[in-house]
Amino acid sequence: MSSEKLNEDALLQNKLDRIRHTFIVLSGKGGVGKSTVAVNLALSLSLRGMRTGILDVDIHGPSVPKLLGLTGMRVGVSGEEIIPLELYGHIKVVSMGLLISGNEQAVIWRGPLKASVIRQFVQNVAWGELDALVVDCPPGTGDEPLSIAQLVGKKASAIIVTTPQLVATIDVEKCITFCRQLELPIAGIIENMSGFVCPHCGKEVDIFSSGGGQNLAMAYNIPFLGSIPLDPDIVKSGDAEQPYIYLYSQTKTAQRFDEIVDRIVSSKEIWKSDTEVKANDISNSAPIDVKTKDDNQEKGGNGFMRFAVPTYQGKLCAHFGHCEAFAIIDTDNNGNIIKEVFENPPPHEPGLLPRWLSEKGVNCVIAGGMGSRAQQLFAQQGVKVVTGAQGEYPRDVVEQYLKGTLQIGANTCDH
Ligand code: ADP
Repeated sequence: MSSEKLNEDALLQNKLDRIRHTFIVLSGKGGVGKSTVAVNLALSLSLRGMRTGILDVDIHGPSVPKLLGLTGMRVGVSGEEIIPLELYGHIKVVSMGLLISGNEQAVIWRGPLKASVIRQFVQNVAWGELDALVVDCPPGTGDEPLSIAQLVGKKASAIIVTTPQLVATIDVEKCITFCRQLELPIAGIIENMSGFVCPHCGKEVDIFSSGGGQNLAMAYNIPFLGSIPLDPDIVKSGDAEQPYIYLYSQTKTAQRFDEIVDRIVSSKEIWKSDTEVKANDISNSAPIDVKTKDDNQEKGGNGFMRFAVPTYQGKLCAHFGHCEAFAIIDTDNNGNIIKEVFENPPPHEPGLLPRWLSEKGVNCVIAGGMGSRAQQLFAQQGVKVVTGAQGEYPRDVVEQYLKGTLQIGANTCDH
């Protein structure tokens, strides 16, 4: 073997060693919401404090950039390495759509060329240390899922996305056979567009029959990760190029995503490959050091803190009263961030936000600026307020605050 090839292999191995687990998201057919699930899954994992990457290996029709509002943006290049785009400060994204323009995508990519590009997407990308890399594949079981599955090896599993109508079809069975032939464990099946959430009354109606995903999972002895209803807000957020989970974190549908993510982070089976690879890990140790939603419910423990940071487009915003969303960040008694969610505030009305945040159990608000009336109201509720905070991502702001390194300037809106 040539020394060049050896170097390449060593480089690839080095990258793979730093990725704890790869989730390969597959579907038998297009249009079942595979990319939507992949993107929201990655975001949910990152909001739970996991270092997460999204790799879009759909070379002909990448949809991840659009779903994340990154259309027209480009990844960086430094020497031989591609620098992923970082979103919300914590999630790294690479897609063919962030490398070349739409017209260039019409180029014919034959199998070996695709395999070589996909290899570069792992080997030549500055992913750094990742807990989870979520890979969005084109539909079916063609060159792209094959290349990525062969490349990432043991610390990987597949997530199969289907809809109730397609559940029992040959396409889904093909996905299962594909994984079995490649000895790629299946983390589970997700039934998307399962039932319909009425936009008027919020009630869920079964338009197509649902539950088939669960039956299929049982028949093939595969975990069933959960179902996500057909929800018009998912289409709306997709069209607005805003991730659903980020915009609608308090809805029933978001709760379904959360339940699925709970199952994923707490599955010993999924993270087993990782513990097997690490010789000094105990085989039945906790799957990964990430809290499930329920773990985070018991507020008020010793040193537990819940912070609220007003944000605009995911970053600290100067105007407390007119922010787009609040990042609600929980820390444990060692000051580690255990959870981050974004919540949309109620419509602006004097005095409402302090009560709303206090009812959510927030102990400390870190803002760029805040009017004196709001500060008084927070004081009455026993909520600490820090104004004049400088920084970008809410998670960093909270971490810096806890370390005592947060830059504090003037209160930017003390009218
Ligand atoms: P795929 O990757 O399988 O081709 P996409 O994720 O691109 O599918 O989704 C196809 C379309 O379906 C998009 O318009 C998306 O917004 C919409 N969609 C996905 N999941 C849902 C859902 N649960 N409810 C409503 N629309 C959805």
